[in-house]
Amino acid sequence: MLARDERVKGFRMLDQDMAWRLVDTATAYEGAMRDFTEALMAVPTENPPSAHYEACVDVFQEELSRLGIEHEVIAVPDRIAAGRQCVLAGHGPSGRTLYFHGHYDVVPASEPEQLRPRRKGTFLFGRGSADMKSGLAAMLYAICALRDCRVPLAGRIGLVVVPDEETGGAGGSRYLADIGRIGRDGIGMLTAEPTGGVVWNANRGAITLRITVRGRSAHVGLQHTGVNAFEGMLDVAAALRRVKAEVETRTTAGDEPEAARRSILLLGGQCTGGSNFNVVPASCEFTVDRRINPEENLAVERARLLAVLDAARARGIELDLDVFQEGESASSAIDAPLARALARSIDTVTGRKPRFALCPGLLETRFYASRGVPAYAYGPGLLSVAHGPHEFVNMRDVVRSAAVYALTAAQLLAAPA
Ligand SMILES: [Zn+2]
Repeated sequence: MLARDERVKGFRMLDQDMAWRLVDTATAYEGAMRDFTEALMAVPTENPPSAHYEACVDVFQEELSRLGIEHEVIAVPDRIAAGRQCVLAGHGPSGRTLYFHGHYDVVPASEPEQLRPRRKGTFLFGRGSADMKSGLAAMLYAICALRDCRVPLAGRIGLVVVPDEETGGAGGSRYLADIGRIGRDGIGMLTAEPTGGVVWNANRGAITLRITVRGRSAHVGLQHTGVNAFEGMLDVAAALRRVKAEVETRTTAGDEPEAARRSILLLGGQCTGGSNFNVVPASCEFTVDRRINPEENLAVERARLLAVLDAARARGIELDLDVFQEGESASSAIDAPLARALARSIDTVTGRKPRFALCPGLLETRFYASRGVPAYAYGPGLLSVAHGPHEFVNMRDVVRSAAVYALTAAQLLAAPA
C-alpha cells in the first residue's frame, strides 16, 4: 500500500483521498457483491431458450429498491420478443451520461450442476459467474460506492441491464437502440464482459446463417428418381470454401499473432441431414459463421455470401436460408478520455497498465459505438472459461472491477471543485 500516493498522481479531477476512499468503499462490498451474484446465478437465465428472464429481473429490481437506486423496467413488446424486460437505473444529475451496460442472460449449461452457484474460497463457480452476473454486481456496487462517498458528479451514470445478448440482442439492446434509450447523451460506455485483465476496444462483426439444401427422397435402388441434398450441400460448401480462402487472407490491425488477426469464415459448425444410409437424403443443413474484422463492412460481406447462394440456386440447387445472427463490428479510440480514465484506474487498482485488444466475439459496445459513443469492455473473469463447463470468477477480481468502474466514473464525471 506504500505506492498509493504515487499511483493516483495521474488523477486530475479527483483528489487522492477521494480516489482511495472509493477503492476502499467498493472493496468493503465484497460480501454484498458475492451474495448478489449468487442470487442472480440462482435464476438460470439460459439463452437459448431465454429461460426465467422475468424472475431474474425481479431479483435485480429488488436489489435496486433495497439499495434505494432509482430505476425503471422496460418491457419489450411481444411482437418483437415475448417475455423480455430491460432494467434502466441511474445515479447522478441528468445530462451527460456514462453508461454501465451488462446482460443477464447466460449461455446454456451442458450439465444441470453448472446452474447451481458454488463457493470455494474467494472463487465462485457456475454458469453466469464470469459472463456476466458478477460483472453486473460490480457495476451496481460501483454506483453504491460513488453514492456512499458522495462524489460530486457533473453528469449521470446510466446502468443498462438487458437480456438476449448471447443471441444477437434483438429483445434487449437492439430494441432499446430502436426506441432511442441506449446511448442518449452518452459520453462513454463500459460493459463488464470477462476480459481477463485486458480492455476490448474493438470487436468483430458477425453474420451467421443456416443453409438448408433441399432434395427429394428415394430408396437407394431408385436413386435416379431422387435428388441428393448432400451432394447439393457439397457444391454450395465448395463455393463457400473458395470465399473462405480469400477472406481469411485479410488481417486486422493489432499485436496479436497473425493467425488470430485473420478474418473468419467457419463452415459446418452445425451440420445435419439424411435419414438412413440407403435413402437419398431429402435435406441437408449446415451453418456458416462469418466474423468480420473492424476494417470490413458487414453489408458488403453479407452481399458476398448471399451472391454465392444465389449462384448455387442458378445452378439448380434448391436451398433455404435463415440469417439468425447479425451484428456490426465496432472500434473505439484507445486515447479517448474514457479510455485513458479506464486505463489509469486499472493501473491504480491492479498495479498493471492494461493492454487494449480486439474482442474475438461480438460485443454490445457496437450499439453505442455506432452512435459515436466511445465504448469499451472490461470486467472480471476469463473469456476462456466463460462459455465452458467450468465457468468461475474470483471475487477479488470482481471487487477490483467495481473499484475500477467507480474510479473511472468519478474521473470522467467529477464536478469541478
Ligand atoms: Zn457476456
